[in-house]
Amino acid sequence: MKTFTLSETATSLKPSGIRKFFDLASGMEGVISLGVGEPDFVTPWNVREAAIRSLEEGYTAYTANAGLLELRQEASSYFKRKFDVSYDASEILITVGASEAIDIALRTIINPGDEVLVIEPCFVAYAPLVTLAGGIPISVSTSPENGFKLQPEELEAAITEHTKAMLLCSPSNPTGTSLNKDELEAIADVVERYNLIVLSDEIYAELMYDEAYTSFASIEGMRDHTILISGFSKGFAMTGWRLGMVAAPVFFLEHMLKIHQYMLMCAPTMAQFAAIEALRAGDRDVIAMRKSYKQRRNFIVKSFNEMGLTCHMPGGAFYAFPSIRSTGMTSEQFAEELLLEEKVAVVPGSVFGESGNGYIRCSYATSMEQLMEAVKRIKRFVDKKRDKTMN
Ligand code: PMP
Repeated sequence: MKTFTLSETATSLKPSGIRKFFDLASGMEGVISLGVGEPDFVTPWNVREAAIRSLEEGYTAYTANAGLLELRQEASSYFKRKFDVSYDASEILITVGASEAIDIALRTIINPGDEVLVIEPCFVAYAPLVTLAGGIPISVSTSPENGFKLQPEELEAAITEHTKAMLLCSPSNPTGTSLNKDELEAIADVVERYNLIVLSDEIYAELMYDEAYTSFASIEGMRDHTILISGFSKGFAMTGWRLGMVAAPVFFLEHMLKIHQYMLMCAPTMAQFAAIEALRAGDRDVIAMRKSYKQRRNFIVKSFNEMGLTCHMPGGAFYAFPSIRSTGMTSEQFAEELLLEEKVAVVPGSVFGESGNGYIRCSYATSMEQLMEAVKRIKRFVDKKRDKTMN
């Protein structure tokens, strides 16, 4: 086998900690997975039908690089309606998932050596994407005492003369924590003072259970600071369609568009037709899915607390993030032994950053029946481990 000198940046990237558990689980039978971060719902039929219709009508070519104008116009009214921010269609770019939007946003703003604040625990892709863009990811830990809500002092303490931007995610993966208007305003104050760019990942905006949603871009003075990342994967149950969108002042967007154009030409055409229908059809299906997630959230959070795994009530997304500290195990150990002994797949909190140590992430985007069985197995596992440490 011949070898070659490869990119140091690529070879030094660590594989995602989530993968290891999927690989382990995929070789086993009877596993209940609370591991994957995706809806268990199939994309609503009217949305699928719109894609089918576009194929029947022969729309199989590239679209405009920025995406179908009709979709960007729908997105513009969606952002106004749901996020309370005005973006013209020329300030919106349709991407291949929120994933691409994060990548091209980072590549647009970073010069070598720029620091980007990553608020942990967070989505596993943030730090690697910052590194790939030539930046330096700087971890900012949030604490369970504050329900993993970023405190302005924590943010300010991490800022140096090299800080360029921050990646903010509310509601958050993996904690489900969401920030309300007052909390966002306190962060905006720091952003303004240090003139930061904010990549605001609002992919879970549709999945808020108790409070109304507030977009970071809607906070006074923040529209010009913000690259707003949104998409269809989570709220609209469209992970496999690979469609996202990003809204930002043309100052940022015109350069993001060039990267997008050279890299991908455009997002998948049939998925864009489906997305027009998803935005147009409005809330009906989203409301039904949200209602079902809320019921499951209430059940799983209550169950964790009852079995002594302290779990805060997450305001959004579809993840519960209980502490497993009382078992005396590390989160890696807990997840591995739980999978091998009780066949329940969860993700160790440590893969989302150091402050996730002592926690596990459980996605409740699975049927109530499966959740009830998973809770039974986790309780048996926890009781067994506690008995062992007591004896
Ligand atoms: N941001 C966050 C916080 C996520 O959890 C995910 C998916 N797990 C993404 C972005 C990527 O979403 P998409 O499928 O739109 O690329």
